[in-house]
Amino acid sequence: MTDRHGVVIRPVGKYCKEGINCIKACPTEAMRWYSGFLKIIPELCINCGECKRVCSDFIAVEEDEWEILRNSTSDRVLICDPVMYTQFAHLQDPREVSSLMGALGYKDLIEEMEIAYDLVAFATVKHVLSVPRESRPMISVYCPAVLRLVQVKYPSLVSRLTPVENPLEVAAALSESRGVGGKPFVFVSPCPAKIGMAKYPEGRRASHMSYAVGMNWVYRDIVNLAKRPSVGDSLPSSDFSRWIRWAVLGGESDHLSMFWRIFGNGEPFRAVVVSGMRNVMEVVEEVELGKLRGVDYVEGRVCDKGCVGGILAGESRFIASQTVPHRVPDWNPSEERLSLLEELHARGFTSLEFPIRARPRLPLSSDLRESMEKLHQLQIVHDRLPGINCGFCGRPSCRALAEDVVRGQGKVTDCVYEQRRRVGDLTREILEMIKLPLEK
Ligand code: SF4
Ligand code: SF4
Repeated sequence: MTDRHGVVIRPVGKYCKEGINCIKACPTEAMRWYSGFLKIIPELCINCGECKRVCSDFIAVEEDEWEILRNSTSDRVLICDPVMYTQFAHLQDPREVSSLMGALGYKDLIEEMEIAYDLVAFATVKHVLSVPRESRPMISVYCPAVLRLVQVKYPSLVSRLTPVENPLEVAAALSESRGVGGKPFVFVSPCPAKIGMAKYPEGRRASHMSYAVGMNWVYRDIVNLAKRPSVGDSLPSSDFSRWIRWAVLGGESDHLSMFWRIFGNGEPFRAVVVSGMRNVMEVVEEVELGKLRGVDYVEGRVCDKGCVGGILAGESRFIASQTVPHRVPDWNPSEERLSLLEELHARGFTSLEFPIRARPRLPLSSDLRESMEKLHQLQIVHDRLPGINCGFCGRPSCRALAEDVVRGQGKVTDCVYEQRRRVGDLTREILEMIKLPLEK
């Protein structure tokens, strides 16, 4: 179960030792301690999983959908993130992984994935080329955590988000259009951000995926089968590899380069590829400051090394990222493929139903005058606080506590330094009253 604002990560209360690592790690200051309970503010949470990275024992995504999948005997189709096909170093062709899933009773989509990723790369290149150079770089929305980070923390950059559907949704839509509709799609995700995308899609009313589960659960089920050295026939490398490269940093840009060479009128494709939350934030800030002039595209992934670094992947990201480059993709799409992509693009498979909107922090008040007054109060409270962002008040920063005070969700005395100062003042008053000498 998830809440209606799309938070798919939660603290596991019975283990929590009331630390502050998770609060300090959150890039959007979405976590607070309120009266002994850890709360995630839904409007601010981007499902990035940074909190789980620093406190894996205490924060978990919901698992009940995996139980539904596992115990169900009805037909279901798995839509596995490309990361799934990097998890077994000795299986160099996705069809081998696919056959393992078949042995366990699951059908996955391979052909649709290949076309969907080609189609999204094709549509993205067409879109970026349609944007005037001075309004570039456009920002990739493949990582939903980057998308939401921009919506929440950098709302002025929402127009830079590339309005192209996620290839995983496109794969499901293609499959439905080919008549697989009717069977529930189960999305196997390497991260909470993509689970959030499947449950609360951006730019569309509803996702094609009925369920979304953590990849590590499916991985565990098939890992024993995968250990067998030979499963199925040995298959040659093919253009299957193009979409699997999206699992690692740079794979998306490589794929876009393929179409840029065809449609870019001889212009070089200039992409910045960046992984890790802090690095992504730095690059997005540079876009905001206009420092990335001349760059066409930013491929940002909040996980180190790209999606193979997702917190729900089964295999080590260091091993999985080594698996992918061994597959040499075919970077020359056939004429038939290009005309198929033109046709599917024209049919709107990559179009969003709604524009992507900003989700800035909630205003202090709906009334502008009151909001300005509260902002002034916030500054006064903030000036009283020590400004060292220690986190002992249960907020990620002194400013966050000041904001909570103004919103009526906290007290200045939640600050331990303020408490100490007040206890000191009180002690002085008492000592003066009973006329004992004050300690210097
Ligand atoms: S998932 Fe990310 S945004 Fe949400 S509470 Fe955790 S660290 Fe913060
Ligand atoms: S980088 Fe990939 S795995 Fe990590 S949060 Fe983004 S989409 Fe998920």
